[in-house]
Amino acid sequence: MKVIIIPALKDNYIFLLVDKQTKNSIVIDPAESKPVLDYLNIHGLNLTHILNTHHHGDHIGGNAELKSQTGAKIVASSYDNHRIPGIDKIVTDNDEFILNGINFKVIYTPGHTLGHIVFYSSTFKALFCGDTLFSLGCGRLFEDTAAQMFNSLQKIKALPNDTAIYCAHEYSLNNARFATYIDPYNVALKEKLDNLTELRNNNQPTIPSILSAELACNPFLRTSNISIRQNLGLLNATELEVFTEIRLRKDNS
Ligand code: ZN
Ligand code: FE
Repeated sequence: MKVIIIPALKDNYIFLLVDKQTKNSIVIDPAESKPVLDYLNIHGLNLTHILNTHHHGDHIGGNAELKSQTGAKIVASSYDNHRIPGIDKIVTDNDEFILNGINFKVIYTPGHTLGHIVFYSSTFKALFCGDTLFSLGCGRLFEDTAAQMFNSLQKIKALPNDTAIYCAHEYSLNNARFATYIDPYNVALKEKLDNLTELRNNNQPTIPSILSAELACNPFLRTSNISIRQNLGLLNATELEVFTEIRLRKDNS
């Protein structure tokens, strides 16, 4: 079993979970259908399921065509039932299910959108987190409050440290520059920036990241860090206040 990363649109990633033995596969957040259909055809794979983290077009754009071409079943959040067409399996917080022998657990993570969910797979030790967590960043608050996003990120922080983080966009390098401005003395972040720069120079995805690296480098997960607080002039603020300030500065950066 492996995770295939398929670049799509400007900076999206589509993830295809492939069982090489059975030739069955599951797609997560198909921004568009063509690159997925091409991959399936070239490798002789069946598509059994489509998993969506949220309703935005760059995450469900390929749903309809993939479903009609392959008969794949759509799995998505109960909160998005009214705005993701053709859902076959509605899931909600803490739901656990097995597809093609792969374990999934749903974690409800409102913040970017009201219905946003992420999929944790113990089979892959991986989190498919859509637009909730990015490497060195987090999703914009389109429908929800900073408090909701902050809470959602705490749930992700509680996952095993070695969880592979599969986020849906290649934003890492841009995020790294912002993170360096928030957290200028962080040595681990400097190393990560060098690493990301090299990957992007070679046109490689920076995804997946590892949760331990995000905990060490992602300012949105480091709201208790003294050096960041000092830099922001928020030494005695709550973690939520620090988070809100970092999100605001990112929005205005
Ligand atoms: Zn989105
Ligand atoms: Fe997106």
